[in-house]
Amino acid sequence: AEAYNAAVAGAKALNAFVIETPDHALAAADQADRDRAGGTLKPLSGVPIGMKDLFATKGVQTTAGSHMLEGFTPVYESTVSQRLWDAGAGMLGKLNMDQFAMGSSNETSYFGNVISPWRRGDGGNAPLAPGGSSGGSSAAVAARLCPGATGTDTGGSIRQPAAFTGISGIKPTYGRCSRWGIVAFSSSLDQAGPMARDVRDCAILLEAMSGFDPKDSTSLQMDVPAWDANLSADLRGKKVGIPKEYRIDGIPAEIDRAWEQGIAWAKDAGAEIVEISLPHTKYALPTYYIIAPAEASSNLARYDGVRYGQRVAGEGSGTGAGLAEMYKATRAAGFGAEVKRRIMIGTYVLSAGFYDAYFNQAQKVRALIARDFQKAFETVDVILTPTAPSASFALGEKSADPIAMYLNDVFAVPASLAGLPAMSVPAALDDQGLPLGLQIIGRAFDEQGVLNAGLAIE
Ligand code: GLN
Repeated sequence: AEAYNAAVAGAKALNAFVIETPDHALAAADQADRDRAGGTLKPLSGVPIGMKDLFATKGVQTTAGSHMLEGFTPVYESTVSQRLWDAGAGMLGKLNMDQFAMGSSNETSYFGNVISPWRRGDGGNAPLAPGGSSGGSSAAVAARLCPGATGTDTGGSIRQPAAFTGISGIKPTYGRCSRWGIVAFSSSLDQAGPMARDVRDCAILLEAMSGFDPKDSTSLQMDVPAWDANLSADLRGKKVGIPKEYRIDGIPAEIDRAWEQGIAWAKDAGAEIVEISLPHTKYALPTYYIIAPAEASSNLARYDGVRYGQRVAGEGSGTGAGLAEMYKATRAAGFGAEVKRRIMIGTYVLSAGFYDAYFNQAQKVRALIARDFQKAFETVDVILTPTAPSASFALGEKSADPIAMYLNDVFAVPASLAGLPAMSVPAALDDQGLPLGLQIIGRAFDEQGVLNAGLAIE
């Protein structure tokens, strides 16, 4: 009992869950027993899944990591979570995350940061960031609290936390997973995907999560391929591209070593390695940090104290002027500092005087970035890069410097802007024994190619 209690306390100390829903998971386990007896087992029968708290879950609080939505209980279920329950899975709880999915370290959560289960090997005991924004998901899977979790990825939020915690995660092609019932951050970029211990589990989960949904106007009208059944680590006849623009100055040598190791593994699996160029890569980060805040400022306009969650009465409550004051007071109290920063950047770049200089320009550069990939994929089948420019960092290390935090997304955002499938797989440990991930980017709709290359490398 003592060991059990210590394990439970250790698990809770990670702060990975905002709320726990053991009844949901137990009901799925009971159903799995009945299905086994009846010979009607489903692909995920009885599997306990952690749900990032960005997915609306019927009757279960959905906060998006924010004070704004604290106490908000949806009356509907997101399409992705519904698909998981239909496949037999159960929900263990709602996972902590950066507020409205804005962040790379989980420190913007209203419910306190998640702590990575990893520690530096030199005895430095500073708690480490699990990555973000899906940091509850990465910590829960890495700590073996659940075999799989959902994440969402707008500019790296599945891949970077997977890399920081030594697990796998895939962001599918934009449109594969329905966005219906996922709290919107940047609608042209947001994609759901699975995070799990290995590539095969990601393939199984992604199959359950994907599929056309008439409730999402950007949902792909395509059949879901049998990714799991067609997994193969044989890369003979495949070409793996290495983009020279991802070799940026100041990257720790151990990231380069992990990349070289990944290249060697791809070769061992039969692939031909090809140097490629993605010339607009250096514009991806500034382009992302214009487009994502612009769309966020629009999406977050709906939190006005009337429709969802928090309401704070402002001055003059009960009078005509009270309404505007109520909006102000609610938004001032409900949003955290990073969310306010994004809303201000977003409204600025969309404003009449600056729209052409920023938002419009960013849309054009986004098209150039997508074209770079299109050209590269005329020659190669997948592209291999590091997932992030560093291993996990100490909590607090970058939280006072937004630019340093944003720089962590440098390798993740290009594939997001192009809407391409991209995955992170664990590849190596750094000098401190911390995990490093490698990213595989694929052609649109070619999750299979991405998963297969991931299998060869993990
Ligand atoms: N770290 C990035 C950001 O803060 C990505 C977030 C995400 O993918 N949800 O915007």
